[in-house]
Amino acid sequence: MATRRRWKDLAAHRIYLSKASSTAADASAVAEAVSGGWLSPSGPDLQAFEDEFAEFIGVEGAVGLASGTAALHLGLKYLGVSQGDFVLVPTVTFGATAFAAAYLGATPIFLDVDASWNMDPALIERGVRAARSLGGRVTAAIPVDLYGTPADMVSIREECARFDISILEDAAEALGATNNDGRVGSGLNPAAFSFNGNKIMTTSSGGMLVSDDLEMLDKVRYWATQAREPVAWYEHQDIGFNYRLSNVLSALGRSQLCRLPDEVQRRREVRNLYRERLKDVPGICVQDDPSWGLSNAWLSVVTFDSFAYTGAAAKIMDLLEANEIESRPTWKPMHQQPVFANSPTVLTGSGDRLFEEGLCLPSGSDVTPQVVERIADLIGVHLATI
Ligand SMILES: *Cc1c(COP(=O)(O)O)cnc(C)c1O
Repeated sequence: MATRRRWKDLAAHRIYLSKASSTAADASAVAEAVSGGWLSPSGPDLQAFEDEFAEFIGVEGAVGLASGTAALHLGLKYLGVSQGDFVLVPTVTFGATAFAAAYLGATPIFLDVDASWNMDPALIERGVRAARSLGGRVTAAIPVDLYGTPADMVSIREECARFDISILEDAAEALGATNNDGRVGSGLNPAAFSFNGNKIMTTSSGGMLVSDDLEMLDKVRYWATQAREPVAWYEHQDIGFNYRLSNVLSALGRSQLCRLPDEVQRRREVRNLYRERLKDVPGICVQDDPSWGLSNAWLSVVTFDSFAYTGAAAKIMDLLEANEIESRPTWKPMHQQPVFANSPTVLTGSGDRLFEEGLCLPSGSDVTPQVVERIADLIGVHLATI
């Protein structure tokens, strides 16, 4: 009991990196789905969630899946990525982007990032040449919208078109962000979203693949439900996956989606507050929007100029931790990951530098203006002593 109570006290005071928001409406949405008896994977909430999500993004349709990773896997599979292919992946991302290519027997080629911290379109041609020199071909690219900041999709599409490369956008972090197409995910290519517990909107765990290609969505839905043929018995002509989002979690998703615009607004305000409160501290930058779109500000990320401060990001992380505030280094580049040691790369050093200088600050539902003040004070006072 004693440890349990202590853990509860701690949880009540600790500030998290990206705490999910949950409301009474969320709870009753889930309770209704349960009491309505729709405990099977499929059901009315799943279908409604897909429709509402597609409408929100501005696409023809969507498939609810067990995770963003599953959406990436089946999206790439539909694009025809297979054994021996090469897939372009930005080196700064979460491992799942590159794992999806590996599930299909493909090899990721890691491209460095541009000033928006996303796949640098200027490096695509060199990625294509790297594949050729290894006797292979780049069949797909997975641009990521890092921390909710939209990638330069217009330039990426232009370059990919030159080399006949299919695109699957990893928009897992960017739900509610916008680019030249409108909402991120509404463009010409399919896109994957995640509803993991730490994302801007959650079903505790889940994902969605969106596309204007209804044939693609039907095929993915079929693969995701164990490739079951439409007959009374279990008939299989394909290898399937158990990847469907459940109806109960979809009910939570529908409730969360209603609040998403407010959540985007709130996270943008948090990021603006960090910027405002840190603007007089030299050598600090808060990630900004690119000229081609607006971030959903999923996470507020700062960089500490490594010429002004050595190892500041790590020191600040320790300092915040000592104050019961969770922060996290920016994604460790994929080309530095032991598991991808043998993958080809096209690097400029920008991803390495970001990993050295970047820190993700608390941005979730427990971050009030007072919390931002406190964090900015801790950072400002500490840097003044360096
Ligand atoms: C979270 C995330 C994913 C994976 O989503 P899951 O729902 O956790 O499987 C993929 N790519 C990026 C960039 C992510 O941040």
